[in-house]
Amino acid sequence: MTYEVKSLNEECGVFGIWGHPDAAKLTYFGLHSLQHRGQEGAGILSNDQGKLKRHRDMGLLSEVFKNPANLDKLAGTGAIGHVRYATAGEASVDNIQPFLFRFHDMQFGLAHNGNLTNAESLKQELEQRGAIFSSTSDSEILAHLIRRSHNPNLMGKIKEALSLVKGGFAYLLMFEDKLIAALDPNGFRPLSIGKMTNGAVVVSSETCAFEVIGAEWIRDVKPGEIVIIDDNGIQYDSYTNDTQLAICSMEYIYFARPDSNIHGVNVHTARKRMGAQLAREFKHEADIVVGVPNSSLSAAMGFAEESGLPNEMGLIKNQYTQRTFIQPTQELREQGVRMKLSAVSGVVRGKRVVMIDDSIVRGTTSRRIVKLLKEAGATEVHVAIASPALAYPCFYGIDIQSREELIAANHTVEETCQIIGADSLTYLSIDGLIDSIGIETDAPNGGLCVAYFDGKYPTPLYDYEEEYRRSLEEKTSFYK
Ligand code: SF4
Repeated sequence: MTYEVKSLNEECGVFGIWGHPDAAKLTYFGLHSLQHRGQEGAGILSNDQGKLKRHRDMGLLSEVFKNPANLDKLAGTGAIGHVRYATAGEASVDNIQPFLFRFHDMQFGLAHNGNLTNAESLKQELEQRGAIFSSTSDSEILAHLIRRSHNPNLMGKIKEALSLVKGGFAYLLMFEDKLIAALDPNGFRPLSIGKMTNGAVVVSSETCAFEVIGAEWIRDVKPGEIVIIDDNGIQYDSYTNDTQLAICSMEYIYFARPDSNIHGVNVHTARKRMGAQLAREFKHEADIVVGVPNSSLSAAMGFAEESGLPNEMGLIKNQYTQRTFIQPTQELREQGVRMKLSAVSGVVRGKRVVMIDDSIVRGTTSRRIVKLLKEAGATEVHVAIASPALAYPCFYGIDIQSREELIAANHTVEETCQIIGADSLTYLSIDGLIDSIGIETDAPNGGLCVAYFDGKYPTPLYDYEEEYRRSLEEKTSFYK
């Protein structure tokens, strides 16, 4: 059971805290605001004076901790937590994080957001050297690398391990006497640090979690950085100097909550600017703007403001579909039983509608929404997408790793327009996207990864290289 809207899912969310008597409970509230980043499983690991305890299970956070005793038993002043959506490793409780590793001389916990691109080769190498993996998730690899390092001190071991894993990662590690946060050399995934009024330090995938627990944002973790948090405060260090910011642009487009800020840019504001830029690039006549709820509403606002067209609520989302176990059969669906979205005929009837959506993945959702609007009486439906066409797979933490799944990898704009039944189809340009987000940085592409759109990956693809090359030969590209 997931909240999946269009088969484009974030891998995970992480939250950590050090120095608060209610560490596990605050982690619960922090994770609650990160639930959109993963609904498959959740877990919290606490540090009770050096003793690590954990509870994890499949399902939403509220289901995992339905029994309050499961949270009460996690005493201690430090904690890390995780909400999971699986991209690597199957759906099983063994893959739910945080992981807990106990050795005769030490113990530590681990939570990971992202996807490693050299996981397969590292795993094979480690297994040949005798490692036994207890999950099929790539997140466990770092623990083996730390443990097997011959470096004489713990920080040396962690740095060595971090320099061996490739791809997109934001890690939280809980040791007996410290909490460690680390980010990959491109900072593909977001990770921010905050402080509570009692001095407790918090780390979160998104800043929206800080608001919920009354913490103040201090700064974002930098690419290649390692942050050590203990009773003496916060210490910033790095494990590599070979860094270049390339944060995932999909965080701004679709994944992150609108109230989060990433690298100084508020997500809602960025989406509004994408909508405004899309209006400047849009070349058709229309009467009203309708955003697809929920993630496209900010872009619709920006589009309406810029174009001068009224922004109307022409589509309503049922917020409770994820709690419904009874799904309509194909027959009932044909009779008009629609679970997720309804068109408001009183709003769209007789109107030329600009339908704003944040992205098109396979095209099936867009086709359904266009049909809904037309059945409700819209005379024309012009689809305007507040991001460029998704034509390449992601290897850094999003669950689409095959070009076959992407409609834009296999069809031109005209063909896609026809398939989804729209009167026109406009995508935001890549330059328009980069300008709209507007991170203050000198890094290429405005500090963004836009590989989903242009196929130019900021890093080598390691284990995925061959598979990716093969898929390029098989399919025609949208951009060629
Ligand atoms: S390829 Fe796309 S989804 Fe993946 S990190 Fe880059 S921008 Fe994000």
